[in-house]
Amino acid sequence: MAAGGDMSDLKTELTGFTGTTLQPGDAGYDEARAVFNGLIDRKPALIARCTSAADVAAAVRFGRAEGLEISVYGGGHSVTGAAVCDQGLCIDLRGLKATSVDPAARLLRAGGGLTWGELDAATQEHGLAVTGGRVPTTGVGGLSLGSGSGWLERAFGFTCDNLVEVEVVTAAGEIVTASETENADLFWALRGGGGNFGIVTTFTLRLHPLGPIVYGGMLVYPGLRGAEVLKAYRDFTASAPDEVGSGLAFITAPHEEFVPEPARGHPAIGIICCYTGDPADGPAAYQALIDLGPAMAMVQPMPYVAVQQLIEPANPKGRLNYWTADFYSALPDEACDTLAAQATRPVSPYTQIIVVPGGGALSRVPDASMAFGSRDAAFNIHYLSMWEDPAETARNTDYTRDLAGSMKPWSTGTAYLNFLGDEGRGRVEASFGPEKFARLQQIKAVWDPDNLFHVNQNIPPAPTLPLQR
Ligand SMILES: Cc1cc2nc3c(=O)[nH]c(=O)nc-3n(C[C@H](O)[C@H](O)[C@H](O)COP(=O)(O)OP(=O)(O)OC[C@H]3O[C@@H](n4cnc5c(N)ncnc54)[C@H](O)[C@@H]3O)c2cc1C
Repeated sequence: MAAGGDMSDLKTELTGFTGTTLQPGDAGYDEARAVFNGLIDRKPALIARCTSAADVAAAVRFGRAEGLEISVYGGGHSVTGAAVCDQGLCIDLRGLKATSVDPAARLLRAGGGLTWGELDAATQEHGLAVTGGRVPTTGVGGLSLGSGSGWLERAFGFTCDNLVEVEVVTAAGEIVTASETENADLFWALRGGGGNFGIVTTFTLRLHPLGPIVYGGMLVYPGLRGAEVLKAYRDFTASAPDEVGSGLAFITAPHEEFVPEPARGHPAIGIICCYTGDPADGPAAYQALIDLGPAMAMVQPMPYVAVQQLIEPANPKGRLNYWTADFYSALPDEACDTLAAQATRPVSPYTQIIVVPGGGALSRVPDASMAFGSRDAAFNIHYLSMWEDPAETARNTDYTRDLAGSMKPWSTGTAYLNFLGDEGRGRVEASFGPEKFARLQQIKAVWDPDNLFHVNQNIPPAPTLPLQR
């Protein structure tokens, strides 16, 4: 049966598949196809809910044979909605949750459909952690393959820097292993190249001693002090030791009890702190930010998993989202003034303009060692606009584009793909640079010559095939 034909008996045609399937009209179908970004409303012809690598392989072979467009659902958090496709086959990994920790070897084997909340819970039982998403509902899959930025990155590197081995279902429907010693080209591409090269069913990650208690929390300053606080933060992070994890966000103070009444609904600047050294040394490490005189200082020893949950309430599934992102080699005073002036006047109270500092361990990984680059960027800015009323979509997207546009003079020209919307191949190519992009295209031509996995930040295969498996 070909794509576009009668889809009614698709589920009976999935041979060798032991998971469950959903089609339009089935109970649970609409819930299963929903993604984080409420702007996305795609209706796959079939959702194949896999429970094993063998299921994933069966689904890939089936989708290929039927000529169906294929999307892969990890945690469903990509702002482009890459987890789902219209009329095609959605390979749903959310049943792949197997997790095992080897505390002695400090290694984690994690199923390809795990979320960061689940992963953190499993590793913190052993006082271990790896850099991961800042919101627990985010998928380990998409985040790690796009490199993976988190509070721990200045101490432990990006998530992909800690990737030791992966089990992958290829576009041919085979199950293979990739590591630095086995299928090394594929492994190089998977560390930053996103979902282009295969479906990862198991991630093996290196863990680090951390927690369960860390020094962390949030400092909040009034929006009126935007430029001053941003400049002070820039200077603070420039010389901060690796243990100082943090991020600064221009936000709107929520209407919550913990916020003083006069501040609610007004622009604010939040700095999240997560110290990876001895919690007793935390207050001294962040003293310069405390000396700035925040309106609220909610920093103290707390469970690492609580730090990981700090911004979850501000990021519920289903709101409308438009994102863009850029790396910056520096933020001179003029850049800080430009950003603060607009970021403290958001058109939606849910919008967050997030400034993430580089440096530390992530900057010491050799650029050539994997697909992900931009190691020398001083800052990564994530322009994350979020709103509820569809009538406000144009206003919000215009605001976000204009703000990011006004910061272009200081951008390196590369973007962090995990934070990027649908901005076309040019942006993807620029983010890797011409040499890495050409190598990625060659590796794609070996492992996915027909671009079966194209519902992603796509890297099309090179037209010729210079490499061999
Ligand atoms: C609330 C929120 C917070 C975030 N915080 C961070 C953060 O702190 N750091 C950061 O780096 N990013 C962050 N992101 C961005 C996030 O990393 C990307 O959106 C990422 O793509 C999400 O992965 P996912 O598996 O949840 O999404 P999905 O939409 O399911 O997948 C994203 C892409 O990856 C592919 N994919 C997913 N799993 C696999 C797999 N196992 N094998 C092969 N391909 C796969 C999909 O096909 C798709 O192309 C955040 C996003 C949200 C919405």
